[in-house]
Amino acid sequence: MERAAGALIKNAFWEPGAERLSPKRIREIQSERLRGLVRRVYEGSAFYRRLLRDRGIGPGSIRSTDDLERLPFTTKDDLRDNYPFGILSVPLSKVVRIHTSSGTTGNPTVVAYTRRDLEIWSNCIARCLTMTGVTPEDIFQVILGYGLFTGGLGFHYGAELIGAKVVPSSTGGTKRQVKLMRDFGVTAFTSIPSYALYLGETAIEMGIDPRKDLRIRTMSCGAEPWSEGTREKLEELFGCMVFNSYGLSEVGGPGVAFECIEQDGLHVWSDHFLVEVVDPRTGEGLPPGEEGELVITTLTREAMPLIRYRTRDIAMILEGDACGCGRAHTRISWIKGRTDDMIKVRGVNVFPSQIEHALMRMPEVGNNYQIVVERRGHLDELKVRIEVTGGAFKGELKDLVDLRGRISSELENLLGLRLTVELVEPGSLPRVEGKASRVLDRRSR
Ligand code: ADP
Ligand code: ZN
Repeated sequence: MERAAGALIKNAFWEPGAERLSPKRIREIQSERLRGLVRRVYEGSAFYRRLLRDRGIGPGSIRSTDDLERLPFTTKDDLRDNYPFGILSVPLSKVVRIHTSSGTTGNPTVVAYTRRDLEIWSNCIARCLTMTGVTPEDIFQVILGYGLFTGGLGFHYGAELIGAKVVPSSTGGTKRQVKLMRDFGVTAFTSIPSYALYLGETAIEMGIDPRKDLRIRTMSCGAEPWSEGTREKLEELFGCMVFNSYGLSEVGGPGVAFECIEQDGLHVWSDHFLVEVVDPRTGEGLPPGEEGELVITTLTREAMPLIRYRTRDIAMILEGDACGCGRAHTRISWIKGRTDDMIKVRGVNVFPSQIEHALMRMPEVGNNYQIVVERRGHLDELKVRIEVTGGAFKGELKDLVDLRGRISSELENLLGLRLTVELVEPGSLPRVEGKASRVLDRRSR
């Protein structure tokens, strides 16, 4: 993407002081803020006071990030058990906004913000956008749900803070989204990756060439597991660089970690979030370069700070402090998926993102796929239904059979598992406007 990268400003910072902190300074700030955090939750949150007391931890027990592992984890169940406001560390009177998670894996959890939480959140998003080339000149379309979901309003206020011209089109009405993009000369947007593909597909159906007839310079995608293969596809489709955006409502929403222009991992804003990776089974800490569950401590949140929150997302911390962009903020890998998304087939662990990565690199593969797991007798069967690109069903049957064979052996090699591939016509798998659900698990549990 050399051509597209040339159009973006390198070395752009929204909060240069905070973004260019040295690794040493980051660690000092983290320790200082961690001490303050423990004190705040101890004083403000009955839930944490009980949790810490049970562990024999007092408000002054934690001195630096070296003591982090003494602190207990917070889990999604803790949030669900204390629904809606039981975890708050400030009186409700200080709260100015309430969101919820999307509820992808169960009951949605609640997240509350003070005015200062909102300010920091917007600044984090403004850092992310500035880092990926968004400027006040941009016309920025927010193609994420507005409302309880943190995505829409989160990006909205961050982009507005920069001074970009924000188009709050939310989700849905795909043709209208494309029309707005063309009519307004939209230059940047953010959306869910599966929906971004659908937008590009729809543009082409409408006779609009996304590379020529639209003016997109930079875009970001996140909120669901996706793959570098899909990124390549989107960059090709829209003719711009595409950046990975990671966040979760429990710790505030989007803007927790974001790729920089180097596209070499996602920077976690380490002055606000302290990230660890642990073995999901034992909770033991894992060193950089080893994959496990991300655990996040919010260092500055006021209304609902969380200590060592188990995200259930699988990734690793990348080695080395230095990044070509000049930021020493911790970098993490792409998210492989959620521990809940992992399917176990005949003893083999499979993440949908692994399958997606391999598929999206094949030019004959279209934009959508579905993984079906069924039980036949005593054995689990894995089937992958794959949309192919426009021409495939119009050509020779032999070529189609050939393609199916190639995809099967590619996936079987990758996963070490026998599976069935079914090729389907473009557009035949269901499209969703929210987070894509890729797995149809028909085994009775
Ligand atoms: P829910 O957990 O109910 O979907 P959220 O809207 O808070 O609610 O979604 C946050 C979750 O979305 C994360 O924990 C993660 O599983 C997923 N997610 C967000 N961004 C990314 C990303 N860039 N890559 C992979 N997964 C992501
Ligand atoms: Zn960087």
